[in-house]
Amino acid sequence: MAYRWWINNKKLFRKERKALAEAHQLLRLQLMPSGYRVNDAFCLEKECVVTHGVYCLRAPKGAAEIDYRIALLLWERYPKEPPIMYCSDPKLPDCDIDRHILINGEACLGVRAEIGKHWPPGSSIVDFIDSLVAPFLAWQLYYDVFGKVPPWGERSHGITGIYEFYAELLDWPVEKRLIGFMRLLARKSHPKGHEICPCESGKRIRDCHRTRIYAARQKVNWRDVTVDLDTVRSYEYF
Ligand SMILES: [Zn+2]
Repeated sequence: MAYRWWINNKKLFRKERKALAEAHQLLRLQLMPSGYRVNDAFCLEKECVVTHGVYCLRAPKGAAEIDYRIALLLWERYPKEPPIMYCSDPKLPDCDIDRHILINGEACLGVRAEIGKHWPPGSSIVDFIDSLVAPFLAWQLYYDVFGKVPPWGERSHGITGIYEFYAELLDWPVEKRLIGFMRLLARKSHPKGHEICPCESGKRIRDCHRTRIYAARQKVNWRDVTVDLDTVRSYEYF
């Protein structure tokens, strides 16, 4: 039988459920059967642990208080795989790329390495809500209250967003050699100094961009980078 964290790590399941109940009284963590309706557009095709309920925010200077109904899917390999957030609130659209809401109401919380930065290994579902869900909903609240995109946290979508994230991380422009740098960040162990530098200078890494590569490797998890690289490749092949 495949690994399912709620079966294979019951202790973690109980711990997460308890911590969530203490931190957010309007949210619940439960194992949901296949057929469970996540939102109007999407039903579970197999059982999954879902954190669902209402998250309440207040706009600046008490301009408004808004609650949003949300669902976080904690799939079999949680917490190795981060939760996937779905909007399940009628106030939010099923799909609106300008609002970072992908198809079926899936929330675009950032590229994988960025999620990994805000939610490092050992983090809990409460941490995920505080560091990723809350800012996403604050962004939505601003949009709903003021009718325009807030003046913060604007990154492009999809593949462009991935390139922008790594360009910023590596201080390297968005162009094809960036992929070569990303490949080195996706390695489990440090690249060797005698390897040829991905900047195509023809020099060895130790005589070229070693500092930059090693500094970037400190800031991201190699596994997350492999996920982002796969996304980049899948866009390019189809
Ligand atoms: Zn170089």
